[in-house]
Amino acid sequence: MNEARSRQVVIAGAGIAGLTAALAFAEHGHAVTVLEQASQLEAVGAGIQLSPNATHILSRLGALDRLRPSAIRPEAVVLMDAATLRELARVPLGQTGEDRWGAPYLVAHRADLQAALTAHVTEHPEIQLVTGARVTDVTVQPQNIAVTAETDGVGLKAAGGLLIGADGVWSSVRRLLADREPAFGKERFSGELAWRATAAATSAAGQAFAAIAAGDCVTALLHPGFHMVAYPVSEGSAFNLAAFTRGERIAEGWSGHADPAILAGAMRGTSPALARLVALAGPWTAFPIHTVEQARWTMPDGVALIGDAAHAMTPFAAQGAAMAIEDASTLAGLVAEFGGDPRQNLTTWENLRRPRIEKVLRRGALNRLAWHAWGPVAIARNLVLATRPAEKLAADMDWLYGWEQQKVVRR
Ligand SMILES: Cc1cc2nc3c(=O)[nH]c(=O)nc-3n(C[C@H](O)[C@H](O)[C@H](O)COP(=O)(O)OP(=O)(O)OC[C@H]3O[C@@H](n4cnc5c(N)ncnc54)[C@H](O)[C@@H]3O)c2cc1C
Repeated sequence: MNEARSRQVVIAGAGIAGLTAALAFAEHGHAVTVLEQASQLEAVGAGIQLSPNATHILSRLGALDRLRPSAIRPEAVVLMDAATLRELARVPLGQTGEDRWGAPYLVAHRADLQAALTAHVTEHPEIQLVTGARVTDVTVQPQNIAVTAETDGVGLKAAGGLLIGADGVWSSVRRLLADREPAFGKERFSGELAWRATAAATSAAGQAFAAIAAGDCVTALLHPGFHMVAYPVSEGSAFNLAAFTRGERIAEGWSGHADPAILAGAMRGTSPALARLVALAGPWTAFPIHTVEQARWTMPDGVALIGDAAHAMTPFAAQGAAMAIEDASTLAGLVAEFGGDPRQNLTTWENLRRPRIEKVLRRGALNRLAWHAWGPVAIARNLVLATRPAEKLAADMDWLYGWEQQKVVRR
């Protein structure tokens, strides 16, 4: 493969993974083309928690300064019993967390994160972002990967030494290459629904929220079969609510609808103050949580899946976007460190990356078990949390939030 072609990177998808990958590869001197199916980059969903392992990378790539003015640095993560509204545990964040993990724990509106990344990408001379371009075909050739995208019914061609599938949980790249790479998998409905709403801090819902939880924290309200996470966004002018229940599969997409009776049913037995907040905070949108587990994320011919396209996970550890950001940065870093043909490094990257993703998946499963516990298990959980000092709860997260990208020294 000639040098210029091998340095050309094509990215499918301009979500958090794709935009971060564009910045990370451009940082190392690659020419990058990003193909995004949406004609306008609109942020779907509402809020997002960005733990220090993610903000550390955003800071290095220069995107954090743009996000900081609208993001909030919460003082703590507070776990509460949704029935009694009693505080069960408090993990300190704020300045204590920033000093501990070397970067801030932030909460933000997704639109603000998307805008910060997009502004940075569009200013970069080595990155071409094409919106309204849906990837419809991928051909793996000995010399390069050829990608076809549809733009207004017209075919657009792009080619490079590396194709990065950053096109989310319902990845087209994964699907288009499934015949050629049988180890690529499929998304699966997890049996859970994520319910989302935002409300102005000054609204009736905002006042109902203030009666339950502190406005400067991330609050998780725990109940058997249900939990809700709440935190401020948009400089504190609004707050974001995300609730999680079991539920039937609904149409794919971030802003779907499900029967509100499911949410009300899952909340049976919670505090009336919480029920009032949920009633005032609508309209609620619902998202069917899908996961992706697959034997491989890369093809040695020059294709790498990152973010949700590779390993979409349940949101119980609030790490899907953070892992997408880590994927993007580690992949670009490894390709730069090893030099030469980027295709040769994909297996190494995947092997290095898998143990961390698997550990995060285990953490998410543990959170799910603990947060939805009932009866004796919930009592035991509450006892453990009550006796564990805040400093120890923070130390439990060092492996995750204090992570820093390591260089891999070639043997
Ligand atoms: C309720 C909920 C709460 C969450 N909270 C958190 C949290 O607090 N912290 C956290 O870290 N993570 C969180 N996550 C997870 C996080 O949202 C995802 O992991 C993250 O958005 C994945 O980013 P991505 O770029 O891989 O995929 P996406 O954001 O889905 O982006 C994929 C992009 O590819 C584009 N695309 C798709 N197909 C094509 C095609 N054929 N051609 C071109 N473009 C295409 C799409 O339009 C989209 O722009 C949460 C998830 C849920 C459901």
